Amino acid sequence: MKLLILIALVYLAYRVGTRWLKRTLQMPREDRSADAYIDDVMVRDPVCGIHFPRREGVELQHGGKTYLFCSTACRDRFLKQQEEKAD
Ligand SMILES: [Zn+2]
Repeated sequence: MKLLILIALVYLAYRVGTRWLKRTLQMPREDRSADAYIDDVMVRDPVCGIHFPRREGVELQHGGKTYLFCSTACRDRFLKQQEEKAD
C-alpha cells in the first residue's frame, strides 16, 4: 500500500513537473517576440541626428528620395534647409 502511494506521488510530481517544464519552454518564445518589437528598424534623423524607430518617423518624399524625421519640426527644418540651398 505504501508503494502505491509512493507511485501516485511520483506520478503527480511528474505531471506537475512536465507542466512546469512546458511553461518554461514556452517562455523564450514570448521573449523573442518582445525582442522583435523592441528591435524595430532604427533610422537617423538627418536634421538633429537622433535615432528613432522607423515606424514612428515622419516621412518625406523629396527630390526622388524618401527621408525620415523624428518629428514634423525636423521635417520642416529640413525643407527650409533645402530651400536655402536652392537659392
Ligand atoms: Zn529630429
